[in-house]
Order: sequence, then C-alpha cells, then structure tokens
Amino acid sequence: MIRVRFAPSPTGSPHIGNIRTAVFDWLFARHEGGVFILRIEDTDRARLVPGAMEEIMRDLRWAGLDWDEGPEVGGPYGPYIQSERVDLYQKHAEQLVAEGRAYHCYCTAERLEEMRKAQQAAGKPTGYDQRCRYLTEEERAALASESDTFVIRFAMPTSGQTSFVDVVRGELSFDNALQDDFVILKSDGYPTYHFASVVDDHLIKISHVIRSEEWISSTPKHVQLYSALGWEPPAWVHPSLILGPDRSKLSKRHGAVNFSTYIEEGYLPDAMVNYLALLGWSAGEDRDIYSIQELIEKFTLEGITGHPAIFDAQKLLWMNGVYIRQTSMNRLAELILPYLQKAGLVSEPPSDSELDYVRKIVPLIQDRLKVLSEAPELAEFFFREEPAYDPKAVQKWLERPEASELLTKVVDRLEELEEWNVGAIESAVREAGADVGAEGGKVIHPVRVASTGRTVGPGLFETLEVLGRDRVVTRLRRAGSSEQ
Ligand code: GLU
Repeated sequence: MIRVRFAPSPTGSPHIGNIRTAVFDWLFARHEGGVFILRIEDTDRARLVPGAMEEIMRDLRWAGLDWDEGPEVGGPYGPYIQSERVDLYQKHAEQLVAEGRAYHCYCTAERLEEMRKAQQAAGKPTGYDQRCRYLTEEERAALASESDTFVIRFAMPTSGQTSFVDVVRGELSFDNALQDDFVILKSDGYPTYHFASVVDDHLIKISHVIRSEEWISSTPKHVQLYSALGWEPPAWVHPSLILGPDRSKLSKRHGAVNFSTYIEEGYLPDAMVNYLALLGWSAGEDRDIYSIQELIEKFTLEGITGHPAIFDAQKLLWMNGVYIRQTSMNRLAELILPYLQKAGLVSEPPSDSELDYVRKIVPLIQDRLKVLSEAPELAEFFFREEPAYDPKAVQKWLERPEASELLTKVVDRLEELEEWNVGAIESAVREAGADVGAEGGKVIHPVRVASTGRTVGPGLFETLEVLGRDRVVTRLRRAGSSEQ
C-alpha cells in the first residue's frame, strides 16, 4: 500500500516549496490509489508559531489537497501531531540507550560552546566530540547524580559509509566519520526532527518519503536510525529545490514566497496545483496546462526531475489567466465578488441588482483578468458614480473643441433609442459621429474616455450596454459640458 506523508513544521506560513511537496505527495497518493497523510512536526517548541498549523490546513484545503489521515480527520495510526506522541519517542530513545545504540549526554551548553570554539580555532570540523559516549559506568553515574538534565545522542558508526537509494538520484553514499552523534531526544523531553520523523514514518507505515532536496544530507542519519531500530526504511524521494530565476534558493527577493499571498491575490486553486506540479516534475510532454484529473493520471515518480526547478512568477500569472478564462461566468462572478466588496464597489451582502450587474460585467473583463484581485481596478468605472479620469486621455480626447459637440449629439441619439442593446447603441454612436463629420477612433475614443475615464477597456458598445443608459448619459453630458 502506498502511504505518503506531508510533514510540515508549524514554524510559520507555508511557502511555495512546502506546498509543492504536498502537491507531489497528494498526486502520487491519488495516482496510486494510496493514502495521503498530514503529520504536524511540532517538536521544536521554541520555533512554534501560533496559528501556523491552522494556516497549513487552510492552505491545503484551499488547494484541494485533502488528507486521508491526519489532524481533524483521524486515522488508524494517530495522533498525527507529534507533540501528542512524545511518550512514543521517549520509549524508543530509551530502548536505543538500553541497546547501546544511543547514550545520555550531560554536556552543558557552555562546554559544547567551548568545544566548538576549540575545534574552530584548530581548523577542525565542528561536531560533538563524543565525550559522553565512552564514559565508564562510574563516570556516567557521577554525572547523572550531578546534573538533572541530559539529552540522548545517537551513537553513529564512526567508520564506513551509509548508502541509500534515492528514487530521483540513484545510490548516494556518505562517510559516517563526517556525521555527528546527533541528539535524538532533547533536554525538554521532546524528540528532534530526525528521531521523531523516523519513528513516525515507521509507526505510521509510510512507504515513500517525498521531501525536498535539502533533506538529503539528513537521510544518512535516518538510515542509521532505521537500522539501529531494526526497521525497514521507506523509499526515499528527494525532488529538487525550487530556485528563483537567478538560480539562487527561492526567497522573498524573488517576490512572494508565502502560499497565502497567492490565495489573497486571487490565484485559482487548480492553477496553483497545476503550476506547482510542474516545478520539478514533468510528464515528458511539451505541455503546461493539465486538469487535476490529468495530473493524477500522469503523476509518477519517474517524472520527478533531479535538476533545479525555476520559479517563474510570470508563467504562474499567465497560467492563472488561462484558468480564469476557463471559468464559467457565474463562478467567476462569485469569485471576484469579495474583491469588489473589499474595494468598496459592491455592498456586503450584495443586493440582487448588484449581483446581476456583476454578472454582466464579468464577460467584459474576463479576458484581461489574470488574478482575481485585478478585478476592482478593471471594473471600477462600472461602479463609481464618476469614473477616475485619466488626465492624459482627457487632454487628448475631450479637451478639443469638437468633443463637446460630438458628445452632445451622442447623448441625443442615445436618449432617443427605443431599445438599449449593443447593436442599437453602436448605430446611434456612429450616426452621431456622422452628424458632426467624424468616424472611427475620433468617435470611439472620446465616447470611451467620457464614459469610462480611460482609453483602453472592454468593447465600447458592450461596455455602454452594461453601464446602462442613465449612467452613460450622465457621464457623457458631464464630460461634454465641463471644460475638461
Ligand atoms: N518537518 C520537516 C519540514 O518542515 C519535514 C521534512 C520531511 O519531510 O522529512 O520540512
């Protein structure tokens, strides 16, 4: 049975890289008919951020990455929050101590600091000098009676190599002599990441550990723990790091890295999942747009690439635009509503006529919209009593003697119309142009600037139809009479 886990630490807001890992886990589980597990790794008590766990769960749910076992869902191997499993880690750590594979270490922070300084001064690699590993029984008893705190360290083999097969990279080997006797249980009784992760991956029956490349260097420690505990390790899968366009590790310098920023800006869940799936995985096709169902069908571990994935914010933006254009009008109206409300353009809750109006606007802005948060800017002039006039556009198209005459004629013609629809509006506007001897852009631009405040926007006649006769006439009159 394929069982994979996403194991975030609630130490802050999930970033793009975290959710990319979750996407890979989820797609692999769904492709294989396996189980996707969420496990919260909160044993580093000093780095806990209140609310981070909730944010992780919110982000996953938003993206549609539903977990089969984990917090709020339960499952046969719970609890799935590590701080609720501390006794399990303690039990296994003491078992390793009893078997001589781990030991209590009484070294104080001061001693460790001195040791580190001395190692640095001597130009040696820093690492625990194993003082407490080789204590005699008497020395150990004496230290234990003097000090009430200790940590448990793992006794790494001091020679030879630790090798394992990474599904993406093949066989990797690490010199044991370069590995530290790392801490597995801290003085506060909580396990370190390495230990908790191994104990849980075993007890929760994880078949594949999928996590980003930065954890490769920890894997020899994990492999040694598995062997000391007498357990079979899972398959190791380390997709590449995500880099910025300058090929350095993705960071704030490259723009937003927190996943929630993309939610707020109005990216669509499926677009995000589609984009993240392609950061370090490929179906071997020259293609970018995949429905979630297609991703599930095509996602195999062979497609995970060992070379770095480059985060391209422009491509994500483009992809989101594609998804927005695939969204039905009614759905898109629902999606942009909160953004319009936040901008104060629509009331909360909206009236029926406001909803109706928003639905009419959607087809006019859908093509230009790349993220939902652009909707207020694109649609503002539909709502404001008076549109925000672009001074350059006004100067170019309205501050000319013939503009006022044209707009007056347009208003006359529009007021006479029996039917308010695109065809009738277009004829009326063009006829008004003919009345004053103008045509084409010389008619379209002044009318557009007068009614929307700008020179670019959706089709003029469609826009006028949606704006409605009252708004249009008021705006054209005002623009035609004022010395703009
Ligand atoms: N808690 C680790 C993290 O935050 C998980 C690493 C792993 O998947 O083993 O990334």
